[in-house]
Amino acid sequence: MHVAAKIKIQVTPEQEDVLWHLSEKCRLVYNFALAERNRNYQENKYRSDKQYIGYVQQANALPELKKKYPEYQWVYSKVLQTTLKSLDDNFKSFVALRQNGDEDANPPRFKGKDHFCTLRYNQSGFKIEENRIRFSHFYNNIPLVFTLPEGSQFTNVKQVDLFYDDIKGAHYVSIVHVVQPQQDYRDNGLYQAFDLGVTKHVGVNSHGKFIEFSVARPDTYWKTPIAELQARRDHCKKKSRKWQKLNRLKRKCERKRSNQIKDFQHKLSRKIVENTRANTILVGDLSVKQMPQSRQATPGLNRSTQNTGHLSRFIGFLTYKATLAGKRVIKIDEQNTTKACCVCGALHDMPLWKRVMECECGNTMDRDRNSAVNIMVLFLSQNALWTGYRLFAGNLRQTGLRIPKIPRYSQEAPCVSGG
Ligand SMILES: [Zn+2]
Repeated sequence: MHVAAKIKIQVTPEQEDVLWHLSEKCRLVYNFALAERNRNYQENKYRSDKQYIGYVQQANALPELKKKYPEYQWVYSKVLQTTLKSLDDNFKSFVALRQNGDEDANPPRFKGKDHFCTLRYNQSGFKIEENRIRFSHFYNNIPLVFTLPEGSQFTNVKQVDLFYDDIKGAHYVSIVHVVQPQQDYRDNGLYQAFDLGVTKHVGVNSHGKFIEFSVARPDTYWKTPIAELQARRDHCKKKSRKWQKLNRLKRKCERKRSNQIKDFQHKLSRKIVENTRANTILVGDLSVKQMPQSRQATPGLNRSTQNTGHLSRFIGFLTYKATLAGKRVIKIDEQNTTKACCVCGALHDMPLWKRVMECECGNTMDRDRNSAVNIMVLFLSQNALWTGYRLFAGNLRQTGLRIPKIPRYSQEAPCVSGG
């Protein structure tokens, strides 16, 4: 599987000069190509046979450009191509949004003078040897060689990005390489189910043991400072010096917030994968999950999709960390796992403020625990894992939770062994 490693590099002033010259060429290519796309998009607006310019046409025009303006030869040719490819991706998603009826969708933005354009080396143009990485370029004779951390090993490197983080004020490389799992997945008869939520993740394992992880909420912490900065910024004349200063500060806070969320998710997903003996981790499918929504919606993105986005990224982290450890993450269709009582199966209306499932059958339990049990039961019965089911139901009974001996979800009768 592919893993990206982000590494800070030390850049000499001479190298920095080279990097900015290369970036500038990529930036111009990006902006020219974007202008061409914009024109082309407008021309096609009312045509029934739309003929959009694509990546291939723009990439094929590169040799001509280099002939006319030799300074574009400074940049390793694959890097110019990947610059056009990233524009292609950005533009395509804009066109797709418009086609889906989103009239507010804006085309990608032009990259400003002080923007460092990421140099993306795909498959070639770089070499990694003994903790050092070297990039090809033809600007002057200063070699772009950078030291990588001691002991770092990258086998089968697919792609390397060289970029500048303007908040941290440093250059980085991001190395996409192939990692082999420590071992292959094997179903060891133990399962760990999770109900993932915005404030907490609640799990239950085959032994009927519940576990809870509360979710760190940097977003709530940063909400006020960011809103305040925005209010102060909006009082200034747009694009004025003061406005830009506040805008930078606001972006810095937003970046910090998202880094903290990401960091927490990395740590928690690793903890979950490492601390369970189960080789199979079950999570609910988010597409059918109810999410809390904020009253004031941020433009283009309301809170509910934001939460879904955070959670689906968390599942992504969980999945790749599990794969590396020889485990597996399986998504379970979440329909009714919150609404159904796990003991008798009766459906209840469960608005988000209702934290406890109270059923006429006598079952009273935390809504997230109930949901986790349902996810486990759904998986075991859908896959006819009756041994696993009996183990789970038996263990739960010892804790006082009497889920049926035969899952209600099963259509076919389980093969009963013995009695
Ligand atoms: Zn019930």
